[in-house]
Amino acid sequence: MKKKLKVGLVGASGRMGQEIAEILKTKNNFELHLAVCRQASLAEFAYTRQTPSCPEAKEVDVWIDFSSPEGLGKLLSVATKNQTPVVSGTTGLSSADQAALKKASAKIPVLWASNMSLGVAVVMEALEVFSRIRQFDFQIEEFHHNRKKDKPSGTAKSLQEKLEKVVGRELPEPLSIRGGGIFGVHKVHAMAEEEHIVFEHMALNRAVFARGAVEAAQWLCSKKKGFYSMRDVLYNEG
Ligand code: NAD
Repeated sequence: MKKKLKVGLVGASGRMGQEIAEILKTKNNFELHLAVCRQASLAEFAYTRQTPSCPEAKEVDVWIDFSSPEGLGKLLSVATKNQTPVVSGTTGLSSADQAALKKASAKIPVLWASNMSLGVAVVMEALEVFSRIRQFDFQIEEFHHNRKKDKPSGTAKSLQEKLEKVVGRELPEPLSIRGGGIFGVHKVHAMAEEEHIVFEHMALNRAVFARGAVEAAQWLCSKKKGFYSMRDVLYNEG
């Protein structure tokens, strides 16, 4: 029988962590091994720890992180030391946090995405078409649940970065709306005097991000050190 990949899950008691734990249970090539979160114990894991700097970290084959910038920072030093790949969807990262991700990727495989859904990876690609109408007015708009900590969302920032590259100028800041239980809606408006185009992505549940993260973890395990995105998972089958 093929050896199962041991997963270390950082943020295991959180909204995303719980979704990922559920998906991992349905996969026979993965094993939930180590849970890292601020909670003292989570029965379903072999080990629950409050920090990734623990002896069991050495046994982890791949990390999945949905925690906080602080949680990700601690994880990167442990994963780099143990040469373990890291998939992270944590948002609200400062430029120093982003530099730490890039630095780690010089030693281990790192995949970070502000949005783990394959749909958003496709929308990101679709933005290229706006190079033909770069004179239009553009505005990104995002909606999320009222517990979301960062604003604008990591996805809105990634879309904005890409769109500014495509149209070759700075654009107005994304608009952020917080309310209810919305999993995540992102809209890209392109507006002219006589027409209005809207690209819209709507996450229908939280599992879509969790499924993407597990797919990314499987993909990343066979990769060399480097910095990867969901675009790589989409287009680079290997
Ligand atoms: P949450 O607050 O429900 O859960 C956070 C979890 O992280 C908890 O288990 C908490 O104990 C743990 N944690 C935080 N800091 C820690 C630390 N320093 N040490 C140990 N454990 C720590 O949050 P959530 O809604 O699950 O979201 C988590 C992150 O994922 C956020 O940054 C969010 O924006 C992001 N997110 C990304 C995507 C994506 O597709 N990339 C999708 C949804 C959420």
